[in-house]
Amino acid sequence: MFLKGEPVVSTLKGEVLDAARNRAAKGFSAPKIALLRLGENPDDIAYEDKIVNDCKSLGILAEKITLNKAGSTADLLNLIDSLNASDEIHGILLFRPLPSQFDIAKISDRIKPEKDIDAMGSMNLAKVFAGDNSALAPCTPEAVVELLKHYFGDLTGKNIAVVNRSLVLGKPLAMLLLAENATVTLCHSKTRALSKITTGADIVVTGVGKGKYFGKEYFSNHSIVVDVGINFIDGKMCGDVDFDAVKEVVEAITPVPGGVGPVTSMILFRNLIKGIALQEGI
Ligand code: NAP
Repeated sequence: MFLKGEPVVSTLKGEVLDAARNRAAKGFSAPKIALLRLGENPDDIAYEDKIVNDCKSLGILAEKITLNKAGSTADLLNLIDSLNASDEIHGILLFRPLPSQFDIAKISDRIKPEKDIDAMGSMNLAKVFAGDNSALAPCTPEAVVELLKHYFGDLTGKNIAVVNRSLVLGKPLAMLLLAENATVTLCHSKTRALSKITTGADIVVTGVGKGKYFGKEYFSNHSIVVDVGINFIDGKMCGDVDFDAVKEVVEAITPVPGGVGPVTSMILFRNLIKGIALQEGI
């Protein structure tokens, strides 16, 4: 079974569109995102174009704001303060990485948590760890949970091995999975006998950033595999799992591309809708 992202994206898209239409029906302004870009980095511009196109298809407004990449932390903090105070702007997305002179931690924490749709700031992360469901969760871990619930429903009691302990993926994912009553084992580069843990798990989430690293010896016939890795081998995108070898063995696996990635993008917009509800006390 291939766990494609597309059906999950369709469901999420429906939720976001409904929320935008409901606002319009009640006479509220359309959801609006501020996109903050520093300089003319082609990757940032491509991402910005994608977000703007996605917004158009979802009934969301996007305001592009481009700043001088030679600017200062103070400039950016002032801008964020004005966006935080604006009733017209509901979400703030800052393209990263920032040039080295910017204080990323200070800037991330200045974004109002309810407008922090990319969950950059420590407040949303703290809420995820506290099990507070008013958190806007980081998009990739939330996408993994969304995909698993879409295909398999209740995760209660599932043994889930997560091979990543970073703050953007493994740690928040473990908290989100615990909130779903799963039993989570966090693995990393110093984990001993990793294949014993992964073959014994019901679900394995990989995020090591090493193309085709996991062969079939890491899985069983019952494994459900969620591959978060994005790698390039000979210019071709691939995950951390050797998909062609492993797909014959396991029960289900996400493709790369076309698995977790597209779901991650849509979570950003669902965070926007959730953030609006928090801002307006709904
Ligand atoms: P990271 O900070 O480099 O973390 C990698 C993690 O993998 C670390 O916990 C590391 O362990 C562990 N690891 C590395 N080699 C290992 C090995 N041989 N055995 C077991 N564990 C190993 O990377 P990241 O930012 O979390 O991103 C991870 C991957 O996810 C990347 O490929 C990235 O492109 C991808 N990603 C995908 C999406 C998406 O939407 N699909 C979004 C974000 C990131 P240590 O902690 O011991 O070093």
